[in-house]
Amino acid sequence: MFGLIGHSTSFESARSLALSLGFEEYAAGDLEMWCSAPPQLVERISVTSPTGKQIEGAYIDSVFVPEMLSRFKTAKRKVLNAMELAQKNGIDITALGGFTSIIFEDFKLLREQQVRATTLEWQRFTTGNTHTAWVICRQVEENAPRLGIDLKRARVAVVGATGDIGSAVCRWLSQRTGVAELLLVARRPQPLADLQADLGGGRILSLEEALAQADVVVWVASLAQASSIDASQLRRPCLMIDGGYPKNLDSRAAGEGIHVLKGGIVEFGSDIGWQVMIEATEMANPQRQMFACFAEAMLLDFEGLHTNFSWGRNHITLEKMDLIGAASQRHGFRALSLELPAQVASLTSA
Ligand code: NDP
Repeated sequence: MFGLIGHSTSFESARSLALSLGFEEYAAGDLEMWCSAPPQLVERISVTSPTGKQIEGAYIDSVFVPEMLSRFKTAKRKVLNAMELAQKNGIDITALGGFTSIIFEDFKLLREQQVRATTLEWQRFTTGNTHTAWVICRQVEENAPRLGIDLKRARVAVVGATGDIGSAVCRWLSQRTGVAELLLVARRPQPLADLQADLGGGRILSLEEALAQADVVVWVASLAQASSIDASQLRRPCLMIDGGYPKNLDSRAAGEGIHVLKGGIVEFGSDIGWQVMIEATEMANPQRQMFACFAEAMLLDFEGLHTNFSWGRNHITLEKMDLIGAASQRHGFRALSLELPAQVASLTSA
């Protein structure tokens, strides 16, 4: 059985989700009430792969909302309680979605294995970051050529290059895709220097310098409060993969020749038939589209790989990306692509 631990994108949307799902007490509650509320298993889901294999799963709402991020103890408790609920329900492999994996890592929850009478079994959980990284690389490889960008001659900036997803994307794009040059962006110099040494290349630049030179920009930093981007400084065409959470790049970088694609999103080949994802996420086709990290839990269950496949920071190997990528294709997922206006599509196919 697979599990998905998620949360709403804001307190306001959480309350309207609660109302639509029949949790009236939650819908009427204030933020204080939500801070003390337990997680809820809100929906059971069944998914069938094109191979014919059927798996069962559950969506657990952690009852966390981003407004709680500054409340260290509350955020920590929300994630641990949701993990405990997943384990108590006998779920074999559960993905930590949205902010929950970031809270797990940043608040060092590995040290908090005991939740009341439950000893959390880490092998039952995955961050889903290996599949997310693979999907983002696939989105770069599939969409850049559609805009007339030749990756073998292109500069690709990775914003958040030293992170778990960013470092895996850098390794793949330099070793597998063979992009002409990687532009590495993050705040701390030492991890950047270590990454550069590990890659045997790449240029370390400030965000402004990188944006002015990049044909493709992969955003995998958490930039919830980011300042706006000066679109006049961007190259044209420019492919922007918005891999962070929340996905807010399209409102910050717009203009002729700038193409923003929601990164780390996959589409399943048929309707899943879930209700919670329709209400809780802002996907264009919520019956089929989902975060790649959620899909990773499904893929691991389809493959019978009940293990914490993506865990800790900067342990994602190319071999693991190959494995999860092959499973993704086998079980009917495809990476989200740009919807290009007719004249761009015809120009680039000419
Ligand atoms: P990490 O914490 O491992 O990495 C974050 C990276 O961003 C680091 O390189 C960090 O380096 C950099 N960074 C942080 N703030 C800034 C800033 N202001 N400017 C430049 N760089 C910055 O995170 P993950 O790799 O686990 O996740 C990355 C993003 O992907 C998150 O937003 C996460 O929510 C999202 N995500 C999306 C998924 C999806 O859409 N399917 C699934 C899973 C995660 P430094 O601190 O040195 O600046």
